[in-house]
Amino acid sequence: MTTEAPAPPSSVPESADVAAIVARLRATFATGRTRDVAWRKRQLDAMVRLLTENEPAIATALEQDLGRKPFEAWLADVASTVGEAKDAAKNVGKWTKRKQRLLEFAQLPGRGWVEYEPYGTVLVIGAWNFPFALTLGPAIGAIAAGNTVVLKPSEVAPACSALMAELVPRYLDSDAVAVVEGDGAVSQELIAQGFDKLCFTGGTEIGRRVYEAAAKHLTPVTLELGGKSPVIVAADADIPVAAKRIAWTKLINSGQICIAPDYILADATIRDELVARIGEAVATFEEGSSGKRIVNGRHFDRLTTALAATRGTVAVGGGSDAAAVEIEPTVVVDPALDEPLMTDEIFGPILPIVTVQSLDEAIDFVNARPKPLAAYLFTKSKSVRERVVKEVSSGGMLVNHLLFQFTTAKLPFGGVGPSGTGAYHGKFGFEEFSHRKSVLTKPTRPDLTAIIYPPYTEKAWKLARKLF
Ligand code: NAD
Repeated sequence: MTTEAPAPPSSVPESADVAAIVARLRATFATGRTRDVAWRKRQLDAMVRLLTENEPAIATALEQDLGRKPFEAWLADVASTVGEAKDAAKNVGKWTKRKQRLLEFAQLPGRGWVEYEPYGTVLVIGAWNFPFALTLGPAIGAIAAGNTVVLKPSEVAPACSALMAELVPRYLDSDAVAVVEGDGAVSQELIAQGFDKLCFTGGTEIGRRVYEAAAKHLTPVTLELGGKSPVIVAADADIPVAAKRIAWTKLINSGQICIAPDYILADATIRDELVARIGEAVATFEEGSSGKRIVNGRHFDRLTTALAATRGTVAVGGGSDAAAVEIEPTVVVDPALDEPLMTDEIFGPILPIVTVQSLDEAIDFVNARPKPLAAYLFTKSKSVRERVVKEVSSGGMLVNHLLFQFTTAKLPFGGVGPSGTGAYHGKFGFEEFSHRKSVLTKPTRPDLTAIIYPPYTEKAWKLARKLF
């Protein structure tokens, strides 16, 4: 067992500081400065510079906190977030335009539209596994929508948290975007300030506590949570490619990804070939990726305990090194369905493979469990794809690959039910952090409403029935 505890954040603010920071941001919002589209674009451009000019420092912090290789640091934290910021900077002018709606005949004369209004001051609580993408990423939507933003990075990645606290005020309008470092207690203290909107990324259990605390202030929430994301590998799948893609994405960040393949449902006819090919791919990819290092001793212990308790067959890996906080990429075939590997989110480099006899069995298996953040499918058949798309409910779905649903700004990213509430990325992030205010305007003359003013005559009633 390891005894290592996460390092404390570099600065834990006093209560008065938290209140003062929020008050400062509220005052900035009240000036109207953040509603200006030019201001929003400048902040989004500055976010691009923050990430690109500091890529080496970001890679070093990710290496320090997570043992991440520079390529994976760039791909998952820098490139994806830069892409989001550029997309938002380019399109924010279009997104903010009011959306005119065609009214019903009875509403005429009149005009109706949706006005995108910033909520005000927004709180973003980030997770440690992709500290930049999951803290600055939601902030992009919040800034594009014209809000002021408090960022609370995860204390579990202290070097990344400290770097964000240093860089954000250097690049962004520091009276509009502030970083508050600290742990869960600091998050709760922040939530107690009563924000106008809150976005939380983290585990489902903590998400519940965040939701409860936000409810006291009726703060609207976006909850980006976790869960067990299944991969259905159908009998007709391209097994060599499926195996490589599954192995690669399970190695990235040592499987500590909310949308990592959590477990595989493999058709019995291809199961053995899939296991063998995943084993080959792991052996090929292992040296070059960051596939073993676990974030801290607590998570290392959680994972090794779950592995020790398995009643399945360890087909690949299985070893661990407590001193180095490393766990070998491991494949477990047919674990018991009531053991921790199959009841809890794994969030590490262990991959259970469960044998199923048919596609029906795979679909029923997923649907009998909490709705996952992602559902993956490998198949060559359109009819299999259509069945899974229509019959399996999940936050998002990706066919014949994994993870890339996170790296596009063109699709909403979020969970459903226990895997989350709300979604962001691209225009969806702008909308998530905007209040859609409905505006209806009516001329005063001619005053057509006069036909239904009291006294209510039979004639007026007949006419009203026809109109409405
Ligand atoms: P976590 O829930 O432990 O922590 C997330 C954040 O919540 C941190 O900033 C932490 O300081 C804060 N926090 C901790 N206790 C709190 C409390 N009582 N009240 C308020 N805030 C509190 O999650 P984690 O360990 O950082 O990340 C792992 C989990 O997050 C996994 O379940 C994973 O699936 C999920 N996740 C989801 C997404 C997504 O986009 N949906 C992305 C990454 C991670």
